[in-house]
Amino acid sequence: MTVRISEIFYSIQGEGRFIGTPSVFIRTSGCNLRCVWCDTPYTSWTPEGEDWTIKEVLREVRKYSARHIVITGGEPLLAAEIQELAATLKRAGAHITIETAATIFKPVACDLMSLSPKLANSTPWKRQQGKFAQMHEERRLNLEVIQKFIGRKGWSAVSESLFLPLAPGYRVYFGQIGSTVVVLLMVEIRRK
Ligand code: SF4
Repeated sequence: MTVRISEIFYSIQGEGRFIGTPSVFIRTSGCNLRCVWCDTPYTSWTPEGEDWTIKEVLREVRKYSARHIVITGGEPLLAAEIQELAATLKRAGAHITIETAATIFKPVACDLMSLSPKLANSTPWKRQQGKFAQMHEERRLNLEVIQKFIGRKGWSAVSESLFLPLAPGYRVYFGQIGSTVVVLLMVEIRRK
């Protein structure tokens, strides 16, 4: 059982709820979207990486003292073995954050799920003659998947200072569909 990994590294979280927290980052390779401004094209446009067994990932992560682990991508939920990986890390005592574009739902073990649906400005209309644009448009915003994550039993929203009537209590940055409907752009939910 292997997971395609682009990189595993130790760093300080630069955004979100645990900003400033020393963490081990596991970056999976492969994404079902093609954001035009993607800052990790080596996991999406031209995916690179190697297949790691879950044991190998665990061994690598244990080289660092950090308890916090961020599983990011690419799109980590695309990996067939992601649930097994997360469950193994959890059993080993890790605090897990998963960063996802929220286009795929899996009941994966973690402590904080950081959802980052993509807005219309992400669509690559011109890049590579626009060959991924239609696919990206169809997938980038999946309200059903977002709802499933938010509705997970035993989870609650991270309460921050920004609120919208649509989703009171959720951490909401900004977002829209077309020019009228406000939706969640980035939401963090965690286990109670
Ligand atoms: S979802 Fe993330 S990894 Fe995938 S293309 Fe967009 S920015 Fe890149």
